[in-house]
Amino acid sequence: MTHEIYRINLPLPLRMGRVNCYLLQNQSGYFLFDTGGKNNRVELLEALEQHGCKPGNLILIVLTHGDFDHIANAAYLRNLYGAKIAMHPDDAGMAEHGDMSWNREHGKLPLKLSGLLFGFGKGEKFTPDLTLEEGADLSEYGLDAQVIPIPGHSQGSIGIFLGESGDLIGGDMFDGSQDPALNSIMDKPNVAKQSIDKLKGYPINTVYPGHGRPFQFARFLENYFLFWVRHQTVLCLSNSENVRKIRKSSTDDRPVSAISFLTEDDLVHLGRCLSFNSLHHQTPLEVRHRG
Ligand SMILES: [Zn+2]
Repeated sequence: MTHEIYRINLPLPLRMGRVNCYLLQNQSGYFLFDTGGKNNRVELLEALEQHGCKPGNLILIVLTHGDFDHIANAAYLRNLYGAKIAMHPDDAGMAEHGDMSWNREHGKLPLKLSGLLFGFGKGEKFTPDLTLEEGADLSEYGLDAQVIPIPGHSQGSIGIFLGESGDLIGGDMFDGSQDPALNSIMDKPNVAKQSIDKLKGYPINTVYPGHGRPFQFARFLENYFLFWVRHQTVLCLSNSENVRKIRKSSTDDRPVSAISFLTEDDLVHLGRCLSFNSLHHQTPLEVRHRG
């Protein structure tokens, strides 16, 4: 079944950047992945109408995770369009209680306040009609897609893999704002790494991220661990003895240490980059990043 994916890119409040929703159209009708924040409701409705999506032909609202910049229009659209809301049960409590810290370990206080920021009030709360767990089958709704749980950013983050085209609706596991990368906000970085390892098992072509532009998954993988290198481990690169020390002293559940995030293979690869660097007196990590 062929499909068309339209990216709807909406502004976040307080110039906090932009967020994506994706509208998929196939022979069965329309499917909306994520719904933006309450502040961009009007723009969203205009975009839906522009693409021919209206009450009666929107079948499902699928939420990649429970953050309010992605779910704040879900209840409103359900009422208006008569579509069902689907999301992973591990994030459903965020929508039900209006609390982004629900089922998260880090950043409890700022997350609790984010309802105000994104205008997620009483009227925005909802209970999903469908819960999507590993391997959930959406074919009865006319969508040939596989649900892949990819926890990390949140416990209930999911990817929706459209096998025929190799498209992956990836939510906030990914960020395409600049060079394709992991989202810099991860509740559980080590779990995110496992999720990426899981995704490597799928023939993914294009990733549609929660923020930024869609990109090739292969391009993301090239950048993937260099992302962590760039942000957090640059200081450790020059001395493998240091790398070992830091790995030993880092605890697994804290997001501060990217070293604990790297596998032995990653470190071997790092070593190669380093010897390349010292041989050629240039910075291959940077070159690769820009390339
Ligand atoms: Zn987001």
